[in-house]
Amino acid sequence: MKNCAIVVVDVLYDFIDGGALACAHSTEAAEATAEFIRKHEGVPVLFVCDHHPSGHCSFKQQGGPWPPHCVEGTHGAEIHELLQPFVNEDLVFLKGCNEGVEQYSGFEGRNAAGQTLGEVLEIMETELVYVTGIATEYCVRNTAEDLLNAGFKVSIPEDCLGWVDATGHASALEALASARAVIRSASQPFHVELPQTAFSENV
Ligand SMILES: [Zn+2]
Repeated sequence: MKNCAIVVVDVLYDFIDGGALACAHSTEAAEATAEFIRKHEGVPVLFVCDHHPSGHCSFKQQGGPWPPHCVEGTHGAEIHELLQPFVNEDLVFLKGCNEGVEQYSGFEGRNAAGQTLGEVLEIMETELVYVTGIATEYCVRNTAEDLLNAGFKVSIPEDCLGWVDATGHASALEALASARAVIRSASQPFHVELPQTAFSENV
């Protein structure tokens, strides 16, 4: 069976306008992702969420590159309200939860049952994964590369992305295209990459 799924990466308040690590085109990414999900009714939506303890190694106080962000229990770690209607708690995968480990890729993120994103996509017999979210150069790129390396087809609606730096965003998309991800507009007709798609909401 050929299924598809939508993986939404880090559309969390700390990465969106006003947040600790606000990215460019982030509110637009949230709006465009919500619209993309609505247009793909019936396709399972999986959320990858940065989720750090307060002393995480990626924070500047610990010698890391970033200001504190997405700290567990804070507003900044929550999924944007535009996407809340699509959240299924079984399909929320947290990453960066261990103090000493940075995780840009959502592939090894885990849900409340302890399953990784990769495992659940396998269980759903997913072939094609649409990846949206923030930020293109970091967590979107790393998640998409791990999905490609694991044998999934990856399609990226570029209007649904936010980024730290416009040049980095463009070069990350170039690298992903070279790795055979399909970079496309969110308004492109659905499922053109994978005709005769059958959907399954069973996990
Ligand atoms: Zn982080």
